[in-house]
Amino acid sequence: MVKAAVITAVIAALSPFHSSSKPLPSSVKTTLKKGGYWHKGCPVGLSDLRVIGVTYRGFYKHNHTGQIIANRKAVGPLTTVFHKLYNLHFPMRYISIAKTYGSGGKRSTEPDPTGSFECRDAVPSPCSGGTSTGNWSNHAYGMAIDINPVENPYVGCGQSRDPQAQSYRDRSRHRPGMVTARVIAAFRSVGWGWGGSWSGNTKDYMHFSWNGH
Ligand SMILES: [Zn+2]
Repeated sequence: MVKAAVITAVIAALSPFHSSSKPLPSSVKTTLKKGGYWHKGCPVGLSDLRVIGVTYRGFYKHNHTGQIIANRKAVGPLTTVFHKLYNLHFPMRYISIAKTYGSGGKRSTEPDPTGSFECRDAVPSPCSGGTSTGNWSNHAYGMAIDINPVENPYVGCGQSRDPQAQSYRDRSRHRPGMVTARVIAAFRSVGWGWGGSWSGNTKDYMHFSWNGH
């Protein structure tokens, strides 16, 4: 018993993971509305969204604190997952409200955001034409998350719409930031499913959600 307690204490000391959660400040609500990330008619109200703060590993082995906007029901699951990813030393390019959503009504163009909430339709497979499916994405509920979209592209029929992500269509060669079996297991531990395991030839490697869709 004593030994287990000591080991637990040592692990805690070596893992200064922190997390927090709070309702959206008015400045963030303004950013979401001005950038078109939230509007009247969205399937989730602003009062049901939270700012989740987490510690995460960057690509250059530094620790960072990031903030992500998600559904209040996703706070528990995502906090658990981020703690596991932190312990795995899994690197993420950035987690930032300012970089993900831009400011002053200008949408962000900074590549490779790890993010959750965006009130939009599900994106059709690159396999098919068109720009909209006419169905809400789980992102529109803040119940999905995209991890390092450049390293984990949305692929259909072998194609990706993101020019930067082309080399990452090849999943056989692992490079930093690519989703691993342990990352998938971290999400599975809270019941969230992975877009990379969809049947058929469309795979959304960046995408995890509460119901796997
Ligand atoms: Zn997604």
